[in-house]
Amino acid sequence: MAAVQRLLRASASSGGAAASAARRRMSTAVAAEQTAPPSFAGAAERARRRAAEERNVQWVFLGCPGVGKGTYASRLSRLLGVPHIATGDLVRDELASSGPLSVQLAEIVNQGKLVSDEIIINLLSKRLKKGEDQGESGFILDGFPRTVNQAEILDGVTDIDMVVNLKLREDVLVEKCLGRRICSQCGKNFNLACIDVKGENGLPPIYMEPLLPPNNCMSKLITRADDTEEVVRNRLKIYNDMSQPVEGFYRQQGKLLEFDLPGGIPESWPKLLHVLNLEDQEEMKLATA
Ligand code: AMP
Repeated sequence: MAAVQRLLRASASSGGAAASAARRRMSTAVAAEQTAPPSFAGAAERARRRAAEERNVQWVFLGCPGVGKGTYASRLSRLLGVPHIATGDLVRDELASSGPLSVQLAEIVNQGKLVSDEIIINLLSKRLKKGEDQGESGFILDGFPRTVNQAEILDGVTDIDMVVNLKLREDVLVEKCLGRRICSQCGKNFNLACIDVKGENGLPPIYMEPLLPPNNCMSKLITRADDTEEVVRNRLKIYNDMSQPVEGFYRQQGKLLEFDLPGGIPESWPKLLHVLNLEDQEEMKLATA
C-alpha cells in the first residue's frame, strides 16, 4: 500500500510518467504470465480466493451517481474487513475542512463537474497513507477511477482484482439522488424516495422502499448541494461521457462484473453476495456476531 500511495502521488505530479513506467514493467510481467485472453471468470476466481484466504481484496465499485455504490461497498468492506474508500467522501471532507482547496472544490463539485486528476490523486494518496499508518490492508474503492486516465494511473501502480459495475435505469437514479439525505450529526445516509416503477419497453419493474432515518436523525437531515435535479442530470451526463469508458477499460481486462440491481437492499444484497460467492462469509460473520 505504501508503494501504491507514493506512486499515485508521483504519477499525479508527473502527468502519469511514473505510472506509465510502472505500467510498462507490469504489462511485461503480465504479458509473460498470460497464456489465454483474460476472462471475468478467472478474475472473479482470483478475487474470491483472495477474499476467502487473505482478506485483503483490492476491488473497485463503478456506477452512475445514486446507484448505491456507497451502500454496497461499505457493507462489503465490513464483511471482508477492508477499508471502503470513497473519493466523494474525501472531497466532501476537504470541503468541510475549509482548507486552501475548499473554495475551488466547492465551485466544481456544486456544478457536478469532476475535480482534476491531480487533486483527487493527492487526496487518495493521503487517505492511503493514513490507512497504512493504521495497519490497513486492501481496499474497496468507490468513485475512483472516474476517467480512463485515472484507471491507467491506478493500473500502473497496483493490481485491481475485480471491478463491480452496479446498474440501474436512469429515471430511478434521478429519483434516488433527489431522495438522498445525510444526518448532519452521525453522517449516515438515508433515502426518502419510494421507488415504484412499472416494467416497460423490456425493462423490469422496480420497487425500492425508502431508507428512513431513526427519530433522532430526522430533524438533522441535510441534502447534498449536488443532489438538485439540474446538477444530478449534469453528473449523469458527465458519467456517460467520462466514466463509462472506464467500464470498457476493465471489461477488456476481464475484470468487470456487471450487476443489474433487482430492487432495494433486501433483494439486491443477497444476490450480490451470491454472484461474489460470499454467502458463506456472511453466514460465518452472522454466526459469530
Ligand atoms: P460522489 O460522492 O462520488 O458522487 O462524488 C462527489 C463529487 O466529488 C463528484 O461529483 C466530483 O466532483 C468529485 N469526485 C469524486 N471522485 C472523483 C474522481 N475520481 N475524479 C474526479 N472528481 C471526483
